[in-house]
Formats: sequence, structure tokens, C-alpha cells
Amino acid sequence: MDEFRLINDYFDRHTDDPKLATGIGDDGAVVHLDRGQQVHVLDTLVEGVHFPSDTAPADIAWRAVAVNLSDIAAMGAKPEWMTLGLTIPDVGEDWVRDFAAGLFDVADLYGVKLIGGDTTRGPVVVATIAMTGTLAGEPLLRSGARAGDSIYVTGSVGDAAAALELRAKASGLLHQRFLRPSPRLKIGAAINGRASAAIDVSDGLAGDLTKLLTASGKGGELHIDRLPMSDALRAAFPIEKCRELALTGGDDYELCFTGPAGLESVGATEVGRVTDSGELVCLLDGKVAAVDLSGYRHFS
Ligand code: ADP
Ligand code: MG
Repeated sequence: MDEFRLINDYFDRHTDDPKLATGIGDDGAVVHLDRGQQVHVLDTLVEGVHFPSDTAPADIAWRAVAVNLSDIAAMGAKPEWMTLGLTIPDVGEDWVRDFAAGLFDVADLYGVKLIGGDTTRGPVVVATIAMTGTLAGEPLLRSGARAGDSIYVTGSVGDAAAALELRAKASGLLHQRFLRPSPRLKIGAAINGRASAAIDVSDGLAGDLTKLLTASGKGGELHIDRLPMSDALRAAFPIEKCRELALTGGDDYELCFTGPAGLESVGATEVGRVTDSGELVCLLDGKVAAVDLSGYRHFS
């Protein structure tokens, strides 16, 4: 396969973004600067580590874009541009076509433009995306939580981990949640200026919430009987196992954030409270529960 032709046929797509001065085709992309601040994120997916080898190319691409969009959402930013580093073994042209189709499906849905990248041969598929977002106001950081703030989580947690655990036996809904996560960009934009801190849930709620609390120099109380869980998850496992997955399972790409009471209206569930204790305590029926928070395992 000729790299130049592949890029030309599948990745070089016209965009009418007025801020893009030069897109794919030169040595670098050029964008006009606005006032204000930018957010830069990057995430890598490695075959056999972050997705199973039999994952469809369109799903790999979707996921690669979505995990970056999720970081942009957690910063309260608007996605603008991305570059793609794609390493592929001898996969064939259909694979590249399907990968590009999945990439533009999710990119168009959330309004992010592909402006450059690099394509190389390698032993397994590796997809790295670097993404830039713009901020209307200040960024939403991990470090702003205050004692007394409520702790919220969007959507439902545990689904992606359930899909990985069940593999072929997982329901279509659970599979979709793993393969095609929905980055919470609207919620990220809605809570910016109202939430005190935010993080996206990529490694498991307990672990990611701990990172937020540590960055803020705070502790927290987490009610594990309030964790938002999907009907698909509840149907797949007994309740104790559901809670374990919801607490420690990775890959959901929901947002966890802190802030004043009443932020449920953006599409989130209140699951606890920030404290001055310096550690995260789990509560079940109002009593302290001993739970193993070590959680997240990558695929394989
Ligand atoms: P150079 O050797 O100057 O880096 P390349 O041949 O690697 O140029 O790339 C040519 C153009 O195609 C560049 O504008 C680059 O950003 C773009 N490009 C290469 N691979 C990809 C890709 N996977 N997705 C999007 N753009 C790409
Ligand atoms: Mg290059």
C-alpha cells in the first residue's frame, strides 16, 4: 500500500473550518489563533492492550477519537482539531477505509477536524490521537473540589468493564458502551463555571475520583448504593458484582465532578460528598463499607 495514496483517499477530507489555514498535505497544519486558552490532550490505543485484536477497525477509530473527546469534555472545552498517528501491520486497504469511516463518523458527530498525522508500518495496530480544544472561560481542573461539595457522576458506570468480562456473552448494549463510548461534551460545557472540579472516568470511578480528591487535597464519602448502573449491567450480574464493576471498572468515559447541590439537572447522579478527611470512604446503607478499590485491569 502506498502511504501517500492512502492518506489522500481516506484521511484528507475537506473541512470548511475558517480557522484552518492549511490542512493535510503540507509538512504541518496551520490554524489561526483566537484569544483565550487552548486545551491539548493525547491518548494512545494499542492492539492487545486497550482493545482485543478482533475489534472492527471502525470501532477502534471511534474509540480512539472518543477517549480524547472525553478528556476535552472533562476540561470543559470545545473540541476543534486533531492529528492521528496510525501504526498498522499489513492490514489491507478495506481495513484503512473502514477505520477512516469510523473516525469521521464520530469526528463529525462532535465537530472535531482531522488536520494531520503520520502513517507507519508496525507489528500491531497503534492509534494515537492528539486533540486541541478551545475554552470559552477558565478550564475545569481536578484540583478545585471543596469540602461540602456534592460528588456527581454522569450516565452509568460499570458497563464497559462488564462487556470486557463477558466478551461474547455480553449484550449488544454493553458491547456498544465499550466500543463506542459517548464523550460527555455537552455536560462538560454545561458544568464549566458551575462545577468545582472534574475528571473523566477512564480507569474506574473509585480510582479516578481518588485522583480528583488528591489533586484537590480533599477526601470524600461515596455512597456505593447510589452509583448509577444501567439495566443492561443489572441484568448481567448479581448486585454485588454490579457495584464492584461500577466502582472499579474502567473504560466508561463518563464524567465525575464536584460542585454545589442541584447539578443533577445536567444529566448526572449525586453519589457522595467531598470531605476534609483526606481519604475516600465508601458507604453502603449509610455505613462504612470495606471495599477493594484496587480495581482497574486493562484488557488482556
Ligand atoms: P512528512 O513526511 O512531511 O511528515 P507525510 O507523508 O508523513 O509527510 O504526511 C503527508 C501529509 O499527510 C501531512 O500533512 C500529514 O500531516 C498528513 N498525514 C499523514 N498521515 C496521516 C493520517 N494518518 N491522518 C491524517 N493526516 C495524515
Ligand atoms: Mg510524516
